[in-house]
Amino acid sequence: MKHQRGRVEVICGSMFSGKSEELLRRVRRAEIARQTVQIFKPSLDNRYGVSSVNSHDGRAAEAVAIETPQDILKLLEDGTTVVAIDEAQFFDDSIVDICRRLADERGIRVIVAGLDLDFRGEPFGPMPALMAEAEQLDKLHAICVVCGDEASRSQRLINGKPASYDDPIILIGAQESYEARCRHCHEVPGRPD
Ligand code: ADP
Ligand code: ZN
Repeated sequence: MKHQRGRVEVICGSMFSGKSEELLRRVRRAEIARQTVQIFKPSLDNRYGVSSVNSHDGRAAEAVAIETPQDILKLLEDGTTVVAIDEAQFFDDSIVDICRRLADERGIRVIVAGLDLDFRGEPFGPMPALMAEAEQLDKLHAICVVCGDEASRSQRLINGKPASYDDPIILIGAQESYEARCRHCHEVPGRPD
């Protein structure tokens, strides 16, 4: 008898490493296999509702923006066999338990994408625990814009200069941007030794 068994897959890496692209590729292939997929992402501005997952190469799919991981259980529809979650680093630790329950109790294939490291190069939110929970873990790399090696870090720039370790997460009026860099080219002024 064919029995649907749940699992957790994590896709991690720096910005521009292709996490959203890979998430969307898996979603498309699941749909080709006639699976029913629901896509969720954190609503950073407290607005619920229709949103989208966009990759830097221009692909997109509709997603539901949610406030807390518990919303996934509330919004889960009968017949859904695949749950995809993008930007998982922004959720609190309860995302780990929700993913576990989806896989264990509901037999769902859970595909989670997120940044493994923040701009300081430190583990990002619930990602380490999600990576440990996963049966399948893929760590993707971008290209370092400074030296051309594989990039594993997200360089935060404020007005074109590397952001300091203690710079606030929200900076009103400043020009903020990010680029992919390798360990050696990643700069975090003021980082404790
Ligand atoms: P992520 O979700 O990890 O931020 P995306 O899937 O949105 O990544 O985008 C990946 C795409 O970004 C690549 O396929 C490429 O077209 C583009 N890109 C832009 N800058 C870089 C870079 N420095 N290294 C690799 N890809 C890059
Ligand atoms: Zn480099």
